[in-house]
Amino acid sequence: MNSTTQLALPQFESLVPPERILLGPGPSMAHPRVLEAMRQPLVGHLDPYFLEVMDQIQDMLRYVFQTSNSLTLAVSGTGTAAMETAVANMVEPGDPVLVCANGYFGLRIAEMVKCYGGILTILERPWGDVFTLDEIEHALQERRAKVVAIVQAETSTGAHQPVEGLAKLVHAQGGVLIVDAVTSLGGLPLQVDDWELDVVYSGTQKCLGCPPGLGPITLSPRAVERLHKRRTPVANWYLDLNGLEKYWGADRVYHHTAPISAFYGLHEGLRLVIEEGLALRWERHRHNADLFWQGLDRNGLECHVPVDYRLPSLTTVRIPNGVDDIQVRKRLLDEYNIEIAGGFGELKGIVWRIGLMGHSSRPENVELLLGALKEILGAD
Ligand SMILES: *Cc1c(COP(=O)(O)O)cnc(C)c1O
Repeated sequence: MNSTTQLALPQFESLVPPERILLGPGPSMAHPRVLEAMRQPLVGHLDPYFLEVMDQIQDMLRYVFQTSNSLTLAVSGTGTAAMETAVANMVEPGDPVLVCANGYFGLRIAEMVKCYGGILTILERPWGDVFTLDEIEHALQERRAKVVAIVQAETSTGAHQPVEGLAKLVHAQGGVLIVDAVTSLGGLPLQVDDWELDVVYSGTQKCLGCPPGLGPITLSPRAVERLHKRRTPVANWYLDLNGLEKYWGADRVYHHTAPISAFYGLHEGLRLVIEEGLALRWERHRHNADLFWQGLDRNGLECHVPVDYRLPSLTTVRIPNGVDDIQVRKRLLDEYNIEIAGGFGELKGIVWRIGLMGHSSRPENVELLLGALKEILGAD
């Protein structure tokens, strides 16, 4: 006879999550139309209807990435899965790899490079700084790296790393350039083809205004060539682009069951980007960030990163002397329903991290947060 163990189970109610105003480093708020798309009926992952959805997602991703790369798709996993896809497919054991790390996410890439057997050199900078092309060129000449990785929008520090012009230097050494665009895609200028970037990846939960779950990625012909000429198999079955390209391409070979609802959401999120216009969307992020920075200034609060290379999508605000970091964040959440984040690593206890990404980047959210901060800090 079948039997189950009787546990003293409490009553489980269906979920009624609070409607938070998400102004941290991600997830940002999902657009209501994205959530609506995600509750539509499931179809199979090889249903002709779904294959058409995938094709449209690829076309829209090419627009958002500003590329004509044929190998452009969304990895089933968050931004970290897309990061690991980039590293796993480009790095072979023994390859010299240069990682530029001026924050946490650069260091995460470096850890992955070690996992895949790359001979790692880390070019470091204090958290909040950016690299000059000259210093990267210098490091490249010493190391002759086959793969170079850099983060365009370092969410742990709020620094905006310029990447234009870098690919030429990397290509001159016969290498490929990986760019982390998790907190930049759809939120600030990124030109994959014009800037000749080789592997660029992102996530859905930051400036694209979708829930976490998918990792858009694109590979230049140079990167695809490197992939196809590997001496060794990719040491990760799930993220091997040789397999993924057969599912996304004409062959339609089963690889894994695509997370159907997440794809519906991304489809709607990308439609929203097109409706708004990519350049206007970049401008909106910049405009709302400007509003926020002006308000901080009026309230006597300081930003950690100079305005010249400050990210519009994520601002690090210095915590004033004598102010209790955790208490302020708790009051924002409890009394104002607003989520922001603390700093970590080198910036732990020194900054708050405030995101204005995707559907969260709106003037009313800026006003709400500035007002709340003023009330809380004024009363301290
Ligand atoms: C958030 C983030 C990631 C990781 O994305 P997840 O969706 O959290 O897995 C990688 N790089 C940067 C720069 C990020 O901001």
